[in-house]
Amino acid sequence: MTMRLLEGKTAIITGASRGIGKAIAIKFAEEGCNIAFTDLFYDDIAKATEAELLAMGVKAKAYSSDASKFEETQVIVNQITADFGSVDILINNAGITKDTLLMRMTEEQWDAVITVNLKSVFNFTKAVQAGMLKQRSGSIVNMSSVVGVSGNGGQSNYSASKAGIIGFTKSIAKELGSRGIRSNAIAPGFIITEMTAKIPEEARKQWEANIPMKRGGLPEEVAKVALFLASDLASYVSGQVINVCGAMNT
Ligand code: NAP
Repeated sequence: MTMRLLEGKTAIITGASRGIGKAIAIKFAEEGCNIAFTDLFYDDIAKATEAELLAMGVKAKAYSSDASKFEETQVIVNQITADFGSVDILINNAGITKDTLLMRMTEEQWDAVITVNLKSVFNFTKAVQAGMLKQRSGSIVNMSSVVGVSGNGGQSNYSASKAGIIGFTKSIAKELGSRGIRSNAIAPGFIITEMTAKIPEEARKQWEANIPMKRGGLPEEVAKVALFLASDLASYVSGQVINVCGAMNT
């Protein structure tokens, strides 16, 4: 019998009741990983995802948490550590968009996107750090975006948050590398989820036409890369950004 890639490990995945985060949770559970996931509210969607994971035979629990809140994150991570024993993998996935041209962008739209997308990565990484240092191992995967690599008109707040994630990812890789902790980022292109469903049909078609592979990506296709980075398959990969974008950003 072959050993599954994440057998007996525990992962925290933020914002995982739907979209890319959920696909990562399912993929990891298939590989024997116990899943602690967060979402803003423990609603019917979170409950359904939790039930789906439990049916896969792993330990799984949903936690209601606003990832942008520093103290709340400490409490949640302490709770998860008590419930699961240890944390081996952290996937910082929670994210929002509030797209508009700079001319129309309000301070609230800027602050909301920076705190939910970027500060959340600081909050969770800081909260898991002590445990990972003690066990001298850990893999952190942060969800950036191709627009964090190359910028995008109408998304200056979102692009800045996603570029910030890349700087943070690389710094943590350097800071914690000697302790066996790896830190990498994924930069998805156009992935078909509720986030991109908000884009008007015409604009979506135009996006797809500009992708060399001529289609949007599936959440599962991002999840496969997260699995690679989280597992020992990537044991010497740290401080990197992997684009998952159908050759859109080369
Ligand atoms: P999504 O379908 O909108 O899901 C986002 C998830 O994050 C939801 O579960 C949401 O919870 C949660 N969330 C939002 N604010 C939160 C907060 N303050 N605290 C905790 N959880 C929160 O988005 P997605 O497309 O799966 O995107 C996942 C990640 O990939 C994001 O970081 C996004 O920026 C990034 N990304 C996506 C694409 C794409 O094309 N889809 C491309 C590049 C990067 P609720 O259900 O409670 O709202």
